[in-house]
Amino acid sequence: TLAGRSALVTGSTSGIGLGIALLYAQAGAKVMLNGFGRPEEIARARAEVGAAMGVAEAPYSAADLSKPEAVRQMVAEAKDALGAVDILVNNAGIQFVSPVDEFPEEKFDAIIAINFTSNFHAIKAALPGMKARGWGRIINVASAHGLVASPNKSAYVAAKHAVVGLTKTVALEIARTPITCNAICPGFVRTPLAEAQVAPLAKKHGVSEETALTDHLLEKQPSKRWIEVEEVAQMALYLCGPGSGGVNGSALSIDGGWTAS
Ligand code: NAD
Repeated sequence: TLAGRSALVTGSTSGIGLGIALLYAQAGAKVMLNGFGRPEEIARARAEVGAAMGVAEAPYSAADLSKPEAVRQMVAEAKDALGAVDILVNNAGIQFVSPVDEFPEEKFDAIIAINFTSNFHAIKAALPGMKARGWGRIINVASAHGLVASPNKSAYVAAKHAVVGLTKTVALEIARTPITCNAICPGFVRTPLAEAQVAPLAKKHGVSEETALTDHLLEKQPSKRWIEVEEVAQMALYLCGPGSGGVNGSALSIDGGWTAS
């Protein structure tokens, strides 16, 4: 379904981004990866996605998305490597948990820069090409925390709410074009970012990791199970597929019922 399309997926050396990049490549797209990691992890991701594209390794940008100039450079590199950026997935993100009055200022700024401001810079750089070619998809990976809050996540919740606001605004600006801009709002997804939160919770509450998962981490996720990366990737594929053109400015939840309550 994505034959002839080119996609840039940020934060795609791991977790949700890697899952989206892989599914896009399997659906026929050319994909550029981005993100940090150990050299062997990055090489493995490039080889895995490359194999689905029928090449030795997928193109990759090491851009640090906390830096606006690096974001612009990454979009330019993607245009060079892929010929175009038809699909932009703003997925890279980090987390830090602390009460607001103890929140380290540099962590707050980093979360806003990576989780939110980079989306603006990437959209600004990629949109003119989409307009010129008459088709485009912008998908911002927000979170259930783009719609509701939890304590001790001030920077993350603020950044993700901002992503949803940016998504809606861009959607209105491009509403009469064949381009769409949507946000995906996952609950807890089984990835390194989220799994790292289980052990500290078990320790804090003096319970097993299983109990820490269902009673504490997934306290607000009524399904009491992880969302899987592949499920989020299928939503990202749907948003690029046939019949998706009428979905614009939406914040699509995939959260096991979290935001229903
Ligand atoms: P992850 O830690 O597995 O992957 C994050 C990716 O972002 C990695 O590739 C990492 O290298 C990259 N990254 C981090 N800082 C970067 C920077 N400065 N520049 C470039 N790349 C950078 O995390 P994940 O769980 O797959 O999260 C992906 C997105 O999904 C994030 O935006 C996250 O907030 C969101 N999300 C995750 C969950 C969850 O439960 N896992 C739930 C809702 C939303």
